[in-house]
Amino acid sequence: MGIKGCPFCFYKLMNPSTKANHSHSEAAGPEIRYVKGIGPRRAEIFLKMGIHSVRDLLFLFPRRYEDRSRFLPVASVPLGEPSTCRGEILEVKFKPIRRMPIVEVLFGDPSGTLRAVFFNQPYLKKTFEHGQRIVFYGKVENYEGRLQLTNPEFEILEGDDEDSAHIGRIVPVYPLTEGLFQRSLRNILKDATERYLNEAFFDFLSPGIRKESDLLPLDRAIRAMHFPSDFEEQRKARERIVFDDFLSFMLELMIRVKTVRTRLRAPEMSATSELLDEFTGALSFGLTQCQHKAIREIAEDLKSGIPMNRLLQGDVGSGKTVVAAFAFFVAARSGYQSAFLIPTEILAEQHFRTLSQLLATLRIRVELLTKSVDNDARKRILGGLKRGELPVIVGTHSILQDDVLFEKLGLVAVDEQHKFGVHQRNRLLQRVPRPHQLVMTATPIPRTLGLTVFADLDISVMREMPQGRKPIKTYWITRAKQPEVFRHMSERLEKGEQAYIVFPVIEESEKTDLLAAKKEYDRLRKQVFNKFKVGIVHGRLDRTERETTMRAFARGEIQVLVATSVIEVGLDQPNATVMVIENAERFGLAQLHQLRGRIGRGSLESECFLFGEPSTEEGKKRLRLMTKMTDGFMIAEEDLKLRGQGDLLGTKQSGIPVFRAADLVRDEAMLLLARDKAKGIVKDLDLETLKNPEHWIQKYLEQYRKND
Ligand code: ADP
Ligand code: MG
Repeated sequence: MGIKGCPFCFYKLMNPSTKANHSHSEAAGPEIRYVKGIGPRRAEIFLKMGIHSVRDLLFLFPRRYEDRSRFLPVASVPLGEPSTCRGEILEVKFKPIRRMPIVEVLFGDPSGTLRAVFFNQPYLKKTFEHGQRIVFYGKVENYEGRLQLTNPEFEILEGDDEDSAHIGRIVPVYPLTEGLFQRSLRNILKDATERYLNEAFFDFLSPGIRKESDLLPLDRAIRAMHFPSDFEEQRKARERIVFDDFLSFMLELMIRVKTVRTRLRAPEMSATSELLDEFTGALSFGLTQCQHKAIREIAEDLKSGIPMNRLLQGDVGSGKTVVAAFAFFVAARSGYQSAFLIPTEILAEQHFRTLSQLLATLRIRVELLTKSVDNDARKRILGGLKRGELPVIVGTHSILQDDVLFEKLGLVAVDEQHKFGVHQRNRLLQRVPRPHQLVMTATPIPRTLGLTVFADLDISVMREMPQGRKPIKTYWITRAKQPEVFRHMSERLEKGEQAYIVFPVIEESEKTDLLAAKKEYDRLRKQVFNKFKVGIVHGRLDRTERETTMRAFARGEIQVLVATSVIEVGLDQPNATVMVIENAERFGLAQLHQLRGRIGRGSLESECFLFGEPSTEEGKKRLRLMTKMTDGFMIAEEDLKLRGQGDLLGTKQSGIPVFRAADLVRDEAMLLLARDKAKGIVKDLDLETLKNPEHWIQKYLEQYRKND
């Protein structure tokens, strides 16, 4: 948001003239090395995990729980289901088979006996002893006619365990690092929950909010996260922590947004219903409901005097450009200039053609600025911008150069915003009054992600396609059918249509993949499609070469385009009706959807053929989904469900905050609840009062902040 302050609090934001000389050494309970059971050696390990205080320690939540309040009799442990049982060790054997060390433990209870088998962990032969009492957790399998637990988790019981943290209850199982053991960690946390809870935490949520949202008090929640008395209590405890995760995140963000917005002035534009009528009158088609709604939302923003910061999200082909055109029109009529940033030259040219046609009817001038524009034209355009005579400029990064000056820039629109750095965009935005900003994306994102990653933006979503589009037919087929598909493709090419063949060279550094794609390209060009013009684009070609080929395809001079995943996002080529995706199992759902969006843009029926033989169930599910779904938003939701949040967090630039317990896939309802609460709190909040570091919101947020 371009506002700097103390990264840990609003102190600097609220007191901009002060130096950041305040401290965050709030009581979070004693330092970790003074906690019972820890000491200096273990403290080192905890510090490496980012755990400095008892508070941090109590925030180290279990990865799962084990119900040790009831053990299954050894004889009735079911096949194939993770279960817990307890018994006494009767025999320990070490028997290497070939080079593989195998430790085998026979244990039993009055109901019967069972074997636990450990592969490749020879040191375990010293761990187990005859007569030990032991708990196993794992799945029983039938191995060559014999029942066994393979590599189960285990815990050897000690004398005083019967009324301890380890048995006779629902037991927490923690994530471990080297040097930390389950038993000691559990002992440490048992003690810490009994001793330090009230020292380390204060419940800043008012009883009112707690009651409205049906939440446990904080101390009870934290205790029950570690040592729940039953699974219901654990569920309630988790709800409270998840709520706090989301509420603290939303509060922090909304306060920042409110602060920035009350400080910055934006051009006040006039967006009357007469203007809207004039605009729609100039169109050759009627707007969709979604386009109408987006346009109304944008009109409100432009009138407000507060900088618009809106994300326009709509699947490829949903008609985002017209919506942007409306904003340019309004700005121009209010005497302001607009800049439209587009990631590639070809797309910029395409948008320029559409916009100039449309805006010409409304008597508004548009020019195109890219690196291909010759010097004279460039001079003329820069002059027009500087003198304020040119109301709309469409272009690539060229717009961001130092010598491009505006007289009265009032609106910046960005297509596929992730292709431009924040700094680049901010160069245009940092002026008074601050220009409105509209960012557009064709990447459908699941709702929960939208609410977090783009939480500082207002979002307009367009889920509906203009009328007359035929849905793309998608088929998932085996390699063997390839000749048939290619014959069918040839027939369509004969009629003058065009096709894409896509190869999964996902990272353009994967040499062998690229070789395979090139080899296949040769075969296609020389044998299969020798009657047609075939071209290739991939990331290893330089930009001009790539653009020349893309242009030839756009002009219809090439009929078949062999490509890696670099094919332009947003290229509007209504004549392209067939797409073949090779090794489709190697693409993610969202990516497959993006690729498929290159076709189906005209009035002809389009077809997409997925070749792929996925080895996993999940892979099969993905391809099956593609054949059934065309709505990008539904696909994005399914994608998230299939991959889970963990996968998203794995991608570094995801922008997804790291929560203590919340999971964006599981906890959507809680996210919405917390968001509503945060909205209500921030709406009534006098920002001045936050200057006081004792304000409950300051305290509340501080308690949840992570030190990474
Ligand atoms: P995208 O959202 O992918 O950027 P575009 O703005 O490029 O989509 O629009 C795709 C095509 O649909 C363009 O040719 C555009 O003129 C056309 N279009 C946009 N809105 C409508 C509508 N309401 N009815 C019919 N065609 C439309
Ligand atoms: Mg577009």
